Amino acid sequence: MGFRGKMLFLSVHGDPLAKLGKIQSGGQNVYVRELVKALDSLGIAVDVFTHHSDPQAPNKEPLGKNSQVIRLPAGHKGFKPKSQMLKLLPRFLNELKEHIGTGNNYTLIHSNYWLSGWVGLQLQKSYGIPRVHTSHSLGIVRKKALDADNPLFSTRLKIEKEVLQKADKVIATTPLEQKIIANYYSVKPQKISMVPCGVNTKLFRPSENNKAGEILQVDKKIILFVGRFEENKGLPVLLKALDILKKNHPATLAEAMLVIVGGDSLDTPPEELSPEKKRYLKFIQEKGLSERIIFAGPVQHKELPSWYSGAWVTVVPSYYESFGLVAVEAMACGCPVIASRTGGLQQNVLHGKTGLLVEPKNPKDLAIALNYLLTNERARNEMARQAALHGEKYSWEKTTSDLLAIYKGVADERRN
Ligand code: UDP
Repeated sequence: MGFRGKMLFLSVHGDPLAKLGKIQSGGQNVYVRELVKALDSLGIAVDVFTHHSDPQAPNKEPLGKNSQVIRLPAGHKGFKPKSQMLKLLPRFLNELKEHIGTGNNYTLIHSNYWLSGWVGLQLQKSYGIPRVHTSHSLGIVRKKALDADNPLFSTRLKIEKEVLQKADKVIATTPLEQKIIANYYSVKPQKISMVPCGVNTKLFRPSENNKAGEILQVDKKIILFVGRFEENKGLPVLLKALDILKKNHPATLAEAMLVIVGGDSLDTPPEELSPEKKRYLKFIQEKGLSERIIFAGPVQHKELPSWYSGAWVTVVPSYYESFGLVAVEAMACGCPVIASRTGGLQQNVLHGKTGLLVEPKNPKDLAIALNYLLTNERARNEMARQAALHGEKYSWEKTTSDLLAIYKGVADERRN
């Protein structure tokens, strides 16, 4: 039997139509956007509820033929950092309940991240709608990766446990995540399904384009970084690795250019720059690296393939990454990846085949890997070839069809 009815997606902090690369918009936004578009094209209508974080955006916006994004202010229209969102949730829930009204039309909820998970849990309790959950990032892993010990983590872990245990099905995007959810959060293994994220393989594929080269007029070997300016993304490790290259292999570095995509827009006045960007600029200036680094600002997702295609190597120096879409996108475009040996990255990047895995938070290890790939064109080109073959195995169509089978299973179980 096909899937019947309408779906309710929750992505409180991740508006699927938001501009990407900013501090709070990345992989989750892409995941929700691509899944909903694919479900919509299969005739399944989805309402995505998100926080109204951009006051310029409309209250409702179409996402496909029969699907839409619905933005709720939760008492505060405008950006709110994730760390302050928990207290908005009761109002978000009330506004969502007003939207649902007295008759519920939704067959299934798919909640994304623990904050949305909390909202989904309350809807489950009020309306008896079954719920599927994707974590995107797990509190326990983040706590360890960032060595963090703030009060939010204990609250998060408590809520996250309930969100995971009470879901009808939990989606893990890698086998490692599956294991952590079962072992640390005590979720029954039969309740967890492994469905990897995808890539839009029609867009993300090898080409002769080189946007970074064209726009930035760079005729060097491009080392590409794509990501939000967040501590976990490890950009300082990459900057330190460049400093090591400058000292130990100046000729190698002279042939290369680091292009940083994401973070602050280029038109941000200096006094309004994020603290992260200010720190990076200070380091770059102190170490005399300015000539070897270009900040490109956020780039539209659909434009990124020609940035990856033109790069010599993409570096993902994250402390932790539950999946790591950037690494997979780069590979799909035929760009080798140097990534931290952690989380989803160590499963998605094949060491020595589609790129190199290095010890997280270790600039020396990263500098060695960079020097190797920058000076070994043959090895680099073979990895590029393998990366393209490997990258094309990920697709949102496959992710959606796997998820659809899970949705049907959950909905049928509820009906019987
Ligand atoms: N991204 C983008 N433009 C930017 C920076 C990032 O489109 O300027 C996209 C990137 O292509 C990827 C997503 O944001 O699809 C980031 O996902 P990832 O899983 O790598 O990291 P997350 O942000 O979820 O931590």
